[in-house]
Amino acid sequence: MGVNVVMLGPPGAGKGTQAERLATRFGVPRISTGDLLREAVAAGSPLGELVRAVMARGDLVGDALMIEVVRDRLTRPDAAPGFVLDGFPRTIPQAEALERLTAGLGALTVVELIVPEQELVRRLCSRRVCGSCGTNADPSAGADSRCGRCGGAWVQRTDDNAQVVRDRLAVFSRITRPLVDFYRSRAAYRQVDGTRPPDEVAAALAEIVGEEQR
Ligand code: AMP
Repeated sequence: MGVNVVMLGPPGAGKGTQAERLATRFGVPRISTGDLLREAVAAGSPLGELVRAVMARGDLVGDALMIEVVRDRLTRPDAAPGFVLDGFPRTIPQAEALERLTAGLGALTVVELIVPEQELVRRLCSRRVCGSCGTNADPSAGADSRCGRCGGAWVQRTDDNAQVVRDRLAVFSRITRPLVDFYRSRAAYRQVDGTRPPDEVAAALAEIVGEEQR
């Protein structure tokens, strides 16, 4: 059975960092729809042109387009042993589509990172990412340090400013939070306290996914 993991949680909960660690540990790709879209915007591809303005506002890209993006990505050979999805699904229709796309692959393991809203705003407004590869900076990294993976400079994501952060969190509460009920009834669903130190969160997630494999 594959390692088929969905990371749920609001923007700023640590999904990206933790999804990357989990994916590396289990030898499967992290699939971040936000990264796939940002790459498309940076490349100026037709997809990028379609989504640029929506992302800048902090709104959600349409379901049909997102489902196509994920369908494509899941058929790449590196996803044969499984995946850690980060940022998808965000709506009930996306979750229903994921059930269809992964039918026959075994149950999804769904983990939700729980972090209070005040802490999310603080994290998002101070977050720095690599301008070249998108890796999150360690919050303790000095302003003049460079990305450990590719040497790129740290930048602020254009949607990590106070107004757009508030809008993204509102979109999360209204549209994405109902997914918890969807998954509670259908899949292995677990919550992890995302305010704990990153190593502890990583260990908790690895244990959950390891248990599901047994
Ligand atoms: P993220 O990096 O996951 O915070 O995503 C950044 C932005 O990409 C979001 O604010 C949305 O505009 C868009 N996006 C990413 N994933 C999705 C998705 N599953 N459904 C709709 N929009 C998405």
